[in-house]
Amino acid sequence: MSQPSKSIKWCSMSKESRKFQVPDALANAYDFANSLDLRHFTHHGVQHQRAEDLPDAAALGDWMQQRRLIDRTAPPSQRTFEAALQLRDAIRDYLKCDPAERHRRASVTAPLNKAMEPFALRVASIGKDGFALMPVQADAQAGLSAIVAELYNAAAAGTLDRLKMCAADECQRVFFDRSKPGTRRWCQSTLCGNREKTRTYRERHKHDPEMET
Ligand SMILES: [Zn+2]
Repeated sequence: MSQPSKSIKWCSMSKESRKFQVPDALANAYDFANSLDLRHFTHHGVQHQRAEDLPDAAALGDWMQQRRLIDRTAPPSQRTFEAALQLRDAIRDYLKCDPAERHRRASVTAPLNKAMEPFALRVASIGKDGFALMPVQADAQAGLSAIVAELYNAAAAGTLDRLKMCAADECQRVFFDRSKPGTRRWCQSTLCGNREKTRTYRERHKHDPEMET
C-alpha cells in the first residue's frame, strides 16, 4: 500500500480522478464509490448507460491491483466481495447525505460503521511523515481497509465533506466539490445543474395558473 500523502496533491490515481482533480488522498475512495455508475440521463441525444465495474470477486481483485491496493494475484473471496459491495453501498448512502446532516443521521452512519467493521486498521510509524493507518490484513481485504483509511484521513483533514453525490436523480455520480464555499450540489453544473434547473422551471410554470391563460 502506498503511504497516504499528508498534503493534497493534484496528481493522478485514475483517469477520472485526474480529470476532476480529486485529491490523491481520496482518489481510491472516489473511484470505489463510482465503480457503480447509475447515470442514465440523455446528453446530446445519447442516453448514458448504467455500468457496474465490480460484477464479481475477480473484477474487484483486478480493480484493486490496478490501483496497487493489493499485491497478491489471488482474487478476493466471495465473502470479501460481498462485504465490499456492502461497503460501497454504505459509502454511497453516506455521501448522498448532505455533509451538514451526515453526523446526525444514524440511518447512514450505522450501516456505514457496520460495513467498515471487517476492514481493520492499525497505526504504524512511517518515518518522516509520522504515523499512518495501515491495513491489518495482508490479503485482499487490505485494499478495502486502505479505502476506509482514506475516509478516516479525509475526515480528519476536513476534506471528506467535499466528497458528495450529485443531487440529480438520474446521475448520482460521486464528485469532489472544489468550489470555494463548498456548496456545490451537482457533479457538473453545466450538465446536471442545468438539466435540473430547466426541469424545475418547467414544473413551476406547469402549475402556474397565470402561465396557462
Ligand atoms: Zn451529476
